[in-house]
Amino acid sequence: MNILILGSGGREHALAWKMAASPLSERLYCAPGNAGIAQEAECVALDLADHQAAIAFCKTNRIDLVVVGPEVPLCAGIVDDLEAAGVKAFGPGKWAARLEGSKGFAKDLCKANKIPTAAYERFKGAGAAKDYARKKGAPIVVKADGLAAGKGVVVAETVAEAEAAIDMMFTGGLGKPAWEIVIEDCLVGEEASFFALCDGETAIPLASAQDHKRVFDGDKGSNTGGMGAYSPAPIMTPEMNARVMNEIVMPTVRAMKALGAPYKGVLFAGLMIAKDGPQLIEYNVRFGDPECQVLMLRLMSDLVPALLAARDGQLKNFDLRWYDDAALTVVMAAKGYPGNYQRGTLIEGLEEAAKVEGVEIFHAGTKADGGRILANGGRVLNVCARGKSVREAQQRAYTAVDKIKWPDGFCRRDIGWRAVERGK
Ligand code: AMP
Repeated sequence: MNILILGSGGREHALAWKMAASPLSERLYCAPGNAGIAQEAECVALDLADHQAAIAFCKTNRIDLVVVGPEVPLCAGIVDDLEAAGVKAFGPGKWAARLEGSKGFAKDLCKANKIPTAAYERFKGAGAAKDYARKKGAPIVVKADGLAAGKGVVVAETVAEAEAAIDMMFTGGLGKPAWEIVIEDCLVGEEASFFALCDGETAIPLASAQDHKRVFDGDKGSNTGGMGAYSPAPIMTPEMNARVMNEIVMPTVRAMKALGAPYKGVLFAGLMIAKDGPQLIEYNVRFGDPECQVLMLRLMSDLVPALLAARDGQLKNFDLRWYDDAALTVVMAAKGYPGNYQRGTLIEGLEEAAKVEGVEIFHAGTKADGGRILANGGRVLNVCARGKSVREAQQRAYTAVDKIKWPDGFCRRDIGWRAVERGK
């Protein structure tokens, strides 16, 4: 098969690494890709917003399957456009991608189908929103509708903070004024991520993970796209995984089918594991980044037939095998991230680092300059490792990190602490 992956981050590098190992894959392309992905796939300069250019590329190069990494092209309907042109594509169509693209849609779907989630209301104006926040009291969570690259959520500790967030969102503080916001109760518990593969009718579990969103050790500092992750999440026992499938994933798949927007692709449920069970914080309609990297390290089965089966509605009798090992990834970012940072700084020592047992290095934002590798983004490298425990994976990943010579980069030193503290 000729396969095209869309995206350019560590998630897409991990997908390319896994799919390049498939006996089914003949030619593997990635658009636009990065310097690390170029070791696994042929990188192509396509603009992901230009669906016609993607279709033309697929026709010329006889692409048998397109795998879409990021949420923006999914929410823009790239899967519908590819499929309409006769190109098979893995991922949800535009209407199904509303599970991530519209918080209001997702919350209403939960309410209508009794999927456990925080109580909420939707607002189109600041006045009523503030009245509601005052009535409910703090802590309270304010969310802007629409994609906001992880920046559209404020967990307000006081009513004044909630009011400020409401004003900020309605007056364009996130780039453009929110057309709607959701205000919801603050959930208490431990967060975890759960991934399932869906084919429109049914779903099979992938695995669980936990990530670290804050920039500094001890989960302090600003929110980022994610500074590290590990899988499995210790809190996700087999019983809890089964509850998430029965109480959240399957009801979602059934509800989307009933709405005429069958959900195909990866369903990523952001969860709060509360005292009385799992609550949905949010849906994402794709693999997480960096969670995908640790999932791919743990997946024993070939990924390509699984993605094809999801696209073809054939998951019913499908089974995936996983390594019992844990996997962990440390994100190395450019100094200054998530604020201002420099591009083009030199990274050395990657080959030495990759020789550490169990280690795999995925590139999140790099470019090649002759034989040199330069940083080309905020999150730049994912240093990943497998191990018998999270602790062993953590030790291996940091051994590799210490071999990388990149004076202009930094990483957290405590990825996985929650699992390691529990003796995992
Ligand atoms: P989201 O973009 O919806 O995943 O929200 C980003 C982060 O905000 C989550 O990972 C949680 O840490 C936090 N968060 C969102 N909604 C809630 C909620 N209802 N209760 C507590 N924390 C929340």
